[in-house]
Amino acid sequence: MQKRTLSILIIAVLTLILLDGLFGFSKKLYSRYTATFGSTIHNENVAVEPPPEESQPEPIRITLAAAGDIMVHLPQIKAAYNAETDTYEFTECFADIKELVQSVDLAICNLETVLAGPDRGYSGYPDFNAPDEIAVAIKEAGFDVVSLANNHSLDKGPSGIYRTIDYLRSIGLIPIGSIRSEEEKDDILLLEVGGISLAVLAYTYGVNSPYPTENLVSIIDEEKIAGDIAKAKDMGAELVAVSIHWGTEYKREPNQAQKNLAEKMIEFGADIILGSHPHVIQPFDKVEVALPSGETREGYVIYSLGNFISNQNLQTLNMKYVDSGVILTFTIEKDPETGEISIPAIGYTPTWVHKFFKDGKDHYRIVIVEDAIKEYESGQPGDLSEADYLRLKEVLEETREQFRSLDLELAVSTEQDE
Ligand SMILES: [Zn+2]
Repeated sequence: MQKRTLSILIIAVLTLILLDGLFGFSKKLYSRYTATFGSTIHNENVAVEPPPEESQPEPIRITLAAAGDIMVHLPQIKAAYNAETDTYEFTECFADIKELVQSVDLAICNLETVLAGPDRGYSGYPDFNAPDEIAVAIKEAGFDVVSLANNHSLDKGPSGIYRTIDYLRSIGLIPIGSIRSEEEKDDILLLEVGGISLAVLAYTYGVNSPYPTENLVSIIDEEKIAGDIAKAKDMGAELVAVSIHWGTEYKREPNQAQKNLAEKMIEFGADIILGSHPHVIQPFDKVEVALPSGETREGYVIYSLGNFISNQNLQTLNMKYVDSGVILTFTIEKDPETGEISIPAIGYTPTWVHKFFKDGKDHYRIVIVEDAIKEYESGQPGDLSEADYLRLKEVLEETREQFRSLDLELAVSTEQDE
């Protein structure tokens, strides 16, 4: 190869890498459906031109992912049990999604069980107590932050939630939304992720058990949320994400209380609202609110991320929709000169819990819906049955329906790119 051709090629590759960093051509890596916002580039010759002498400082860019409820019902505990080793194994559940979750800078989920220890006896609904191995699998799947603000947080009382917090911390996960001691009750989780300060808060509408929640679980209270967000911003948070456990179970649309609270939180300064609890996916939306100052402020809300994993499905609950969830991803950017924060891309990846019987026991795997469909259609169905395939096709449609507002943006940005 001639030297000149080689140098042009190197420049082309470098420019592509630079452009990729700037404009994120590889965003599809993070999710199946991505809507990109803002300007797009149209310059076919740019790849062979040398980069300008004084190149602009690169924007700081990070990615955040969120998944919904991680439930551990008794049949899942049985399925995870390995009689030979007398241990529990949950890694298989996350095998198909871990590449995606590991690829982002910060991943958040909701753990809807406590880890009260084997002495208390493992149990599913209505008082959840799961083996510690579920947390290990969550960590290995790539999650960083785990919300413990949900209605099952006190299923095994104060000692149950204390042990859960301690265990999660011991393996390097960051629990939020529950309180280990009174001194921690006003703590705000502020994370430095790749040069961006991000606060993550969590609240639940309440708990199922009769224990008083004070100094144990973070409860929805508008005044408290406003105060926490203000405090996070005082501490230097450039972006505020709120994990919130709310809504009506099994309803595919948010209720009025959710809508009102979402608006309030965005008014208070929240940027991203991650809903959980309904066990089905509720819509994603961009919400714009008018501030008392006359300015407007916008934020993004997913009213419910659905079930990430559970034993809920058509067979066990005689209900559709409870077998699916979504991994929602945000690309967050900071202008290195102005410090301005923007969200140039949002994506989602539909997931489905594939439950199947093999080698004498049940298996649960969170699969990426489109990958599983392709696998089946390729003639190598693996453990997928025809019924699974038909359900997967439905799930894809059902999920896209809940992301119609984002798909609209996606359609627009695809048109612009062409
Ligand atoms: Zn719940």
